[in-house]
Formats: sequence, structure tokens, C-alpha cells
Amino acid sequence: MTTTNRLCLILFGPPGSGKGTQAKLLCESLGLAHISTGDILRARVASGDELGNAVAGVMQSGGLVPDEIVNKIVEDRIGQPDAAHGFILDGYPRTVEQAKLLDSMFRARRIPVLVVHLKVDYNEVIARLARRRQCPACGELQSIVKDGPELRCKCGTQMVARDDDREEVVVQRLKAYDSQTAPVLRFLESAGYERCDVVGEGRSPGPIAREIEQLVERRLGAAAEVEQA
Ligand code: AMP
Repeated sequence: MTTTNRLCLILFGPPGSGKGTQAKLLCESLGLAHISTGDILRARVASGDELGNAVAGVMQSGGLVPDEIVNKIVEDRIGQPDAAHGFILDGYPRTVEQAKLLDSMFRARRIPVLVVHLKVDYNEVIARLARRRQCPACGELQSIVKDGPELRCKCGTQMVARDDDREEVVVQRLKAYDSQTAPVLRFLESAGYERCDVVGEGRSPGPIAREIEQLVERRLGAAAEVEQA
């Protein structure tokens, strides 16, 4: 697949649905910048700066960071040069307030948008996150085999389970998803954004990425037709 025209791909789905894995595959194949609010926030927590210290508690408990903080992070990030050719949003928007800000940015900049909803059963989510490991140095994600040995990242660092992947925290994150994030999908739909559902369970990442690439090609084709008309 060739480098794409400007596009915003919103990857939507519960924690553990594979948004991060898909974003990493797709940003390479589509030439889009990967914007993960979770990764940006975790980096700020790790750096121990003022913002990081302010959000660490809410992140550890599985709650959502206040809209004004996340919105500012995303506005700044979208303004960076690598996002000029398009970007993938992974973990944003998560509230209707965030979606409203995004909507106003898209309308001002006339960026074609595609919303992809990765659908995964919550029991599968809990099982997946219990096996998920992340490299604290480079952010790489991998899964351990059930009851299998711990993993070392290809950069050499020991991979660790994320604090917020513990089952009791995952249950809170899924509650936050249901109460605050699922209405975002309804908002985006009512605002006229195209949404495609993609089955995320029982499949390996490669075929899911191919399916999303095809959806992106179709979306860009439709946007080009509108521009020519
Ligand atoms: P993630 O890696 O996307 O699952 O995000 C990890 C945590 O970061 C979430 O549980 C929230 O505490 C916080 N977070 C990430 N993105 C957002 C967002 N768009 N709005 C509010 N909080 C967020």
C-alpha cells in the first residue's frame, strides 16, 4: 500500500481491543503519524513533570484524565509536522467533549475522517490484558503465553505488566468506556462521520490491518470524488 493522502483514522474500541497494535502496523503502511494519548500521558508520568504528577493517580485507578488536559495535548500534537500528512488517533476521543473539539478541528481543516470500531468481547479483553506486557523503554507491546515466561523487549529491556492492566482496574476502565466513551461513537455518527465495524477477536493483527487498509483506500477514494465534483 502506498503513502496515503491526508486522512484522520480514528481507532475506536475498548481497552485491549488492539488499537495500539493496529495503529503501529497502520502508521507504517499508510504513512500516517500515530497519536496515542495513553502513550503521551504515560511518558509524562514517567518524566515526573507537573502534568505527569497531576494525572498519575487517575490513570492508575482506571479513570479518565480531564478533557482540557487531553485536548491540549492532542491539539499540540496534531500541529506537529509529521501529522501534516494525516494521523491515526488511538485512544482519543474518549468523551463527547473531546469529540466536539475534534469535530470543530476537522471541519476547519477539511480533513477526511474514518472511524474504525474494533469490536472485542469484554471477557476476551480481560484475558488479553492479563497477558499483555509493555516495554517501559520503547513502548513495544507483546503478550506472554498463558502462565508462560516473562518477555524481554527487542531493545533489551525487561517487559512489564502495566499497572492499569490488573483485572480490578480493567473492570473500571471498561466501565469508563461504557459510560463515557460509547456515547462518543453515537455523537460521531450523528455528526455524519463514516464508521466501520471490524471484528477484533479470534483474528491475528495482520488480516485486521489489511481490512482497515482497504477501508482507508475506499474512504480516500470517496473523498477524492467529492473534491473533484
Ligand atoms: P490507553 O493506553 O489508551 O488505554 O490509556 C491509558 C489511560 O490514559 C486511560 O485509562 C486514561 O486514564 C488515560 N487516557 C488516555 N487517553 C485518554 C483520553 N482521550 N481521555 C482521558 N484519559 C485518557
